[in-house]
Amino acid sequence: MGRDVELECLCGAIHGLARDVSKDTVNRVVCLCADCQTFAHYLERADLLDSSGGSDIIQLAPSSITFDRGTEKIACVRLGPKGPYRWYASCCKTPMGNTVKPSLPFVGILPELFREARDPERRDELFGPPRASINGKSAIGTPPPGSTERNLGFLLHTVSVILGWKLRGRSFPHPYFDRASEPLYPVKVLTREERDQARARRAG
Ligand SMILES: [Zn+2]
Ligand SMILES: [Zn+2]
Repeated sequence: MGRDVELECLCGAIHGLARDVSKDTVNRVVCLCADCQTFAHYLERADLLDSSGGSDIIQLAPSSITFDRGTEKIACVRLGPKGPYRWYASCCKTPMGNTVKPSLPFVGILPELFREARDPERRDELFGPPRASINGKSAIGTPPPGSTERNLGFLLHTVSVILGWKLRGRSFPHPYFDRASEPLYPVKVLTREERDQARARRAG
């Protein structure tokens, strides 16, 4: 059984709760993919990436997340028409979770949104250490060990976790979609030019 942990954007305008958080109830991974880096640069929050350009992502069941304040500030960007929904706080540009449609129920959140986890020392205790580093081909500098190969063990673990959430009805209530799977907050799809601009910042 996990603990309830407060969620808050970095300026404090948006507030919520993640229920039942523990190393056994979340799935943690460091993603080094170019799109996660581009998203951070789009928000001008590259400070939240690690030294290899990695995003520390905590995946939770959608129904474990609720917001009780500041929801009018929630916004979303997609790097392209088929890209994941990348939610963020429009007030202070705190990333608030990556999702796809609720048919694949997960929300992947950076630790900074969890108040207690702003202290990096607390993260392993709250979430367990990352299970893997993935997509290392896009890493900055030397890729972390094991991150460039296909990680079948991690992939299977992730599929089983998300499938478990789906079977146990943890898709709804979803913090970002209604039951018809329509987004609850404004979604902007970047044009190719806008995406390339954000990508260029990554390179620079
Ligand atoms: Zn904020
Ligand atoms: Zn990624």
